[in-house]
Amino acid sequence: MDTKKAVKRIEDLTKELNHYNHQYYIENTSEVSDFEYDKRLKELQDLEEKFPELAATNSPTKRVGGDITKKFQTVKHEYPMLSLSNTYSEEEIVEWENRVKKLVPGKVNYVCELKYDGVAIGIRYENGALVQAITRGDGTQGEDVSANVKTIRTIPLKLKGNYPEVFEIRGEIFFPLENFNTLNKSREENGEELFANPRNSASGTLKMQDSKVVSERGLDCFLYGIYGRDLPAEGHYDSVINAGEWGFKIPTPEKKYLKKTDSIEGIMEFIHYWDENRVDLPFEIDGVVIKIDDYSQQEELGNTAKSPRWAIAYKFKTEQA
Ligand code: NAD
Repeated sequence: MDTKKAVKRIEDLTKELNHYNHQYYIENTSEVSDFEYDKRLKELQDLEEKFPELAATNSPTKRVGGDITKKFQTVKHEYPMLSLSNTYSEEEIVEWENRVKKLVPGKVNYVCELKYDGVAIGIRYENGALVQAITRGDGTQGEDVSANVKTIRTIPLKLKGNYPEVFEIRGEIFFPLENFNTLNKSREENGEELFANPRNSASGTLKMQDSKVVSERGLDCFLYGIYGRDLPAEGHYDSVINAGEWGFKIPTPEKKYLKKTDSIEGIMEFIHYWDENRVDLPFEIDGVVIKIDDYSQQEELGNTAKSPRWAIAYKFKTEQA
C-alpha cells in the first residue's frame, strides 16, 4: 500500500473505530461484534507500524476506550486504569510467553484468570472502609459511582483481617445470568425494551442516577487486582488470595477460576478448560487473562499507553460470531 492509500485507510478506520467506541462505552450498544472491532483495530495497528509517521497520538490504538458520561463527578486515577492487549490466537499467546521470558530475568510464574464480561471498577479503601469507587473512564480519569457500587452486596463496605491501611482494588462488575434473565423477563411483561446482553446492561446500570434501582438489579463483582504502596504480598496471586481474607469476592483456585502456573502448557490447559466449560458458568466471560505473577517483574515490563505488557487476554474463537 502506498502512503496516499494508507492515509485514507487510517482515516477511515479511525473514524469507524471512534464511532464504535462511542456506541459501546457511552450508548451501551454495538453495531459490530467484538471480533469485527478487534480486526479493524489490528488493521489500524499494523498500518501504524508500517507508516509510523502517520500514527496520530490520539489514535484508538493508543487510547483506553472512554466511558465518561459527565453525569457523575470526574476523578483522576492514582494508578492509570488500562485496557488489555488481546488475541484470538493460541500461537500469539505462545509468542507472548516466549517474549516475556526473554525480557525478564529469572523464573516467571503466570496467573490465569477468567475475563469477566462486565465493566471495570476501581475501589479505594482507607482504614478498612470503602471510600470511593471510580469507573475506568478514559484510563486517566473516571467517574465517581460510589453510591451505586455500595449497593452491590458482594462488595464489602468494611473489611476484616489484616488489610493495608490504604489501597485500591480493581475488579469487574457484571450481571449474573439469572438476574439478567429475570430483569429482561419483567421488562418483557411490562412492555419495556429488552436489554441486549449482560455486559451492556451492567454498564448501563452502573451509570444510573438512582442507587435504589441499581440495588434491585442484583449486580455482582469479582475483584482481580490490588494497587497500593504497602501491599503485604510480592505477587498478584497472593494478593488476590489475601483480598479474599479481607472479605472480597475473589476468583478461587478451587473453582478453577484462578490458577498459578510456570509453563505454557499450564496456560494452554486453562484456556482449553474454559473454552469448553464456560457455558456452565452462571455469568458471562469472553476469554481468559494471563498475567505475570511477580510485581517486580511486572514493573520491569511496564505498560504501553493502552495496556500492561505483563498481561494478555485470550478471547474465545466462538465469540467471533
Ligand atoms: P477488554 O474488555 O478487551 O479488556 C480490558 C478489560 O477487561 C479491563 O478493563 C477489565 O475491565 C476487563 N477484565 C475482565 N476480567 C479481567 C481480569 N481477570 N483481569 C483484568 N481485567 C479484566 O478491553 P476494553 O478496553 O474494555 O475494550 C476493548 C474491547 O472491547 C475491544 O477489544 C473489543 O473486543 C470490545 N469493543 C467492542 C466494540 C464493539 O462495537 N463491538 C467497541 C469497543 C470495544
